[in-house]
Amino acid sequence: MKLADRLSKIKPSQTMEITAKAKALKAEGIDIVGFGAGEPDFDTPDFVKDAAKKALDEGKTKYTDAPGLPELRDTLVEYYRRTENLEYSRKEAIFSMGGKHSLYNIFQALLSDGDQVIIPSPYWVSYPDQVLLAGGTPVILKTREEDGFRFKPEAIEKLITSDTKAIVVNSPSNPSGAVYDNATLAGICEVAVKRKIFVIWDEVYKDIYYGSGRLRSLPRYNSEVKPYTLICGGLSKNFSMTGWRIGWTLGDEAVVKAMSMIQGQSTSNPVSFAQYGAMAALKRGPTHIDGWLTQFRARKDALLEAFKRIDGMSCVEPEGAFYVFPNISGWYGKSWEGKKLENCYDVTKFLLEKARVAVVPGDPFGHPDNIRISYALGMDELVKGIKRIDVAVRELQ
Ligand code: GLU
Repeated sequence: MKLADRLSKIKPSQTMEITAKAKALKAEGIDIVGFGAGEPDFDTPDFVKDAAKKALDEGKTKYTDAPGLPELRDTLVEYYRRTENLEYSRKEAIFSMGGKHSLYNIFQALLSDGDQVIIPSPYWVSYPDQVLLAGGTPVILKTREEDGFRFKPEAIEKLITSDTKAIVVNSPSNPSGAVYDNATLAGICEVAVKRKIFVIWDEVYKDIYYGSGRLRSLPRYNSEVKPYTLICGGLSKNFSMTGWRIGWTLGDEAVVKAMSMIQGQSTSNPVSFAQYGAMAALKRGPTHIDGWLTQFRARKDALLEAFKRIDGMSCVEPEGAFYVFPNISGWYGKSWEGKKLENCYDVTKFLLEKARVAVVPGDPFGHPDNIRISYALGMDELVKGIKRIDVAVRELQ
């Protein structure tokens, strides 16, 4: 059978594949430490679950409007007014099945064949493939470890052509944990306004920040960029609601309307009772986050300390999210059980088979000399995983 031509442009999501592989091995009784999944180990807060249970009991199990319940969209608008002092209307708000689905629909709504989207690397694995599926062309803006995986706004300008439609900015970044400073954000805003390109502002990790104060949505840095910004957020990370599939977009009314039409012809509404849970979450806000941050910070620090003791590893310190993205090219050329490590895929296989630790290779994030380690797992497991990596690496020849 011949499948659609467009599939030849994309590959399976490595984050999803590795997570599924680690789960399958665990189900077989193999003791794997899972550093793969970008999914917090904390439970969804009870008050959110209670709101969804109540909705189920009250029979709120039917279709809703495709972009989500009007009262949920109003709650989101109110949330951004309260937390960001930003004004949006209900028509500028849409809920989708997770942040990933929001992004997918944005690209479907925005891109015509050949339109270009600038994507700074390292990038989350799905951005380029979603652009390709929409007929667009990803244009990668490579950043360097020595620059903390950050870029200068001038670098964007150099890549802009008459076909450039948007740039994706994800801060804190998955996989590097890099956070852009105010000057860089101001520069991004200036370029977007001047060159009239959209900024797809993925702020799904906004609440997971280790610096002082809290991070803000892009239009807070320059109000002129608001019409060009598509804010993408969700509850997967800050409320540990990965399986609920609740994400949103706020921005240009015409884009939101187009996304709504796409949803109306594809998935229809996000799950009705999950929307009621989301409403409770947004009304109260992530009041639990400081406690979670304390744990994430301790795990991050434990990993960074351990990497210093492991030969051949170096790592940029993340400022947000719950990933580290160490460079492991120092292991290349060494062998285990007669098998030579030549790239990040070999390293991922070595760590899984020899150390019984699941990590994601860096290549699908655009940096083939790195691996991504998620520290969304308990400290005991994390320490166990680190010890295993240490022991396995010492045995490399
Ligand atoms: N965003 C998470 C990750 O990078 C979840 C998996 C996915 O959707 O890619 O691991």
